[in-house]
Amino acid sequence: MNTTRISRSALQKAAGFGLLITLCFIWTAQSADRSDAEQDYTARRNQMVALQIEARGIRDAKVLDAMKKVRRHDFVPEALRGRAYDDHPLPIGEGQTISQPYIVALMTAAIQPRPDMKVLEIGTGSGYQAAVLAELCRDVYTIEIVESLGRRAEKLLARLYPNVRLRIGDGYLGWPEAAPFDAILVTCAPTKVPEPLADQLAEGGRMVIPVGESWVQELCVLVKKNGRLEKQAAIGVRFVPMVDPRGRKY
Ligand code: SAH
Repeated sequence: MNTTRISRSALQKAAGFGLLITLCFIWTAQSADRSDAEQDYTARRNQMVALQIEARGIRDAKVLDAMKKVRRHDFVPEALRGRAYDDHPLPIGEGQTISQPYIVALMTAAIQPRPDMKVLEIGTGSGYQAAVLAELCRDVYTIEIVESLGRRAEKLLARLYPNVRLRIGDGYLGWPEAAPFDAILVTCAPTKVPEPLADQLAEGGRMVIPVGESWVQELCVLVKKNGRLEKQAAIGVRFVPMVDPRGRKY
């Protein structure tokens, strides 16, 4: 009797131990899977920077570093994560898109970011461009007109970047209480430069903005000199239109 009892409890112990080992194994395998996926994202991000951005002529090392650092896959819908590092824009819901990585880098480089700068972004969307700016500039203000997108980006950005402030509202009007801004970056296209944004740009400040009719615009780089905006460069691009709260195009 005694022997049976002993061996039964020994058996139970052994079974418990076996279960523990199995659970440990599953846990280790899962975290190994997760870190494999992380490494894969990091490798793809480095490749994105080398092939899509550096190879196309963007040389600002700080901008390249920020693009290597920000986890773009966190900013795209879960179902599209596998395509986060591809060379094109992706849908983020509500008919909006996260811009192509190259365009994000180009616009960021165009404002010539420095650590002491206060910048304004219009069109938060996914929050990705704001995150890249937050890596490079002291203060980032960003405005999104679609509430659901703004709330989602706010959650993500609040966790990662205490230097980002987000407002849900009409970016056409800018953020007058926080003006003047050293740079303004607009990621939706009005048909002409909004007056309030021109007013809120500091003397010597740079604005990068797509201007034009639906779907075909010029990405303009403007510099404020003696109170007036001077155009420095422009390339053809395609952004979603800037709209007012009733959805009409500006
Ligand atoms: N910068 C974004 C991409 C933005 S797509 C990113 O990194 O993901 C352009 C965004 O501009 C859309 O989310 C759209 O809702 C927003 N938008 C359009 N008109 C606007 C306005 N008047 N004010 C603020 N945001 C606006």
